[in-house]
Amino acid sequence: MPRTPPTDAHAPHGPLPEGGTPRPITRWGTPVMHRPGRTVVDFDEELHALAADMVATMYAADGVGLAACQIGVDLALFVFDCPDSDGRRHVGVVANPQLQVPEGRDRRLDDDDEGCLSYPGAFVPCARPDFAIVEGQGLDGGPVRFSGDGLLARCLQHETDHTRGTVFGDRLNGRNRKRLDRQAAEVADDYPPEWPAEGPQGS
Ligand SMILES: [Zn+2]
Repeated sequence: MPRTPPTDAHAPHGPLPEGGTPRPITRWGTPVMHRPGRTVVDFDEELHALAADMVATMYAADGVGLAACQIGVDLALFVFDCPDSDGRRHVGVVANPQLQVPEGRDRRLDDDDEGCLSYPGAFVPCARPDFAIVEGQGLDGGPVRFSGDGLLARCLQHETDHTRGTVFGDRLNGRNRKRLDRQAAEVADDYPPEWPAEGPQGS
């Protein structure tokens, strides 16, 4: 699916860092994916370079969001480029995310399909609140805030989960988890260990 130019995206805290290199995506089962990421305290060039690699990896894998643990780095950081329910793209980088979702009578669940680049090629319904707000820090350490509905709400929740060591498989009932595992096994050959850094789906 062709991407629209980044200039069309809603980027309230600036564009995504460029110039990174796609790295292999870490898979579920690797310890770094199942424990909380460390708080980001150094907002330096190294962090900028890491975020640029995360962006490059996300695009190479045709994803809408990616957390640092998904390239094996133990930090509470994610990047995203994801449409909301109106198809409007939102882009950003969030360190140390704090999530807010509607509670009580404002809370409505959306049970659209969900997938994860760290368990590629498998999608099953996952119920989540249909709106989300994430606050945290940008690459310069300043405060950032993103919010939205549709796939963006799902993405903000999914990526914040990653920074806490939760994968969406942890949120599924037994039946959907089995469906997910079956789908992932069927397409496993399409995603070699280096994906998307090289191989038939990369480059
Ligand atoms: Zn994921």
